[in-house]
This record gives sequence, C-alpha cells and structure tokens, in this order.
Amino acid sequence: MMSGIRGTNTQPEMLVRRYLHAAGLRFSLHCRLLGTRPDLVLRRHKAVVFVHGCFWHRHSGCAMATTPSTHIEFWNAKFDRNVARDAENAQRLQAAGWRVLTIWGCEVENPEFLDRLFWKIVLGG
Ligand SMILES: [Zn+2]
Repeated sequence: MMSGIRGTNTQPEMLVRRYLHAAGLRFSLHCRLLGTRPDLVLRRHKAVVFVHGCFWHRHSGCAMATTPSTHIEFWNAKFDRNVARDAENAQRLQAAGWRVLTIWGCEVENPEFLDRLFWKIVLGG
C-alpha cells in the first residue's frame, strides 16, 4: 500500500479530475504556486485542490491512516513533516487569497464528496 501513492497522476487524483472536468470546471495541474504544488489550480475560482492520500497526509480518524508497527519513530517524524508542510502550504496560499480545499483518498470514490467539493469550488466555502 505504500508504493505508488505519491505519484503525480495517482488514481484518486484522476477520479477527482474526471469528475470536476465532467462537471464543467477547468483547471491547471500541478503548477507551482507560491512555493506549493496543488494537485488542481482553479484560477477562475481562486481555489486550489489537494488530493491527499490518507496514509501519507494523516487523515484524522481515518482507518487508512495507520502507523506501521516497526520503525515507529521514523514514521512519526515523516508524518509530522508531511502534516506540517501541508499546514504551511495552506497558510501561504490562504494568505494570498486562495481558497484551499482538500479531498481525501478515502472520499474520492464517493459521489457525495465529489459533489460537495464541486460546490465548494463554485460557491465558495
Ligand atoms: Zn481517509
């Protein structure tokens, strides 16, 4: 489960892109923005979307955010860095007026979550 989820064209991200594209939204992919690299940038809506893997980005309360039982300190340090970087990125983007939206890996196959993301992008929030 640990390999193949960090690439730039991962399956969860493709599901999000396909859904939003079919819903009529247009976006740039992985462009650099203020030192960050959101998965989707929707300039027209001044919004960015991060598609976060639950494991690497520590989806709070999620069953997929497990911690390996060996090398626990290594993993915790790594997870802490990921979470801290996510928070820094979000702050930097928000400070520049971007709306930062996150959809988690465990949500991307559920049309309700995709629909909610769509409306957040379009209507704000
Ligand atoms: Zn999750």
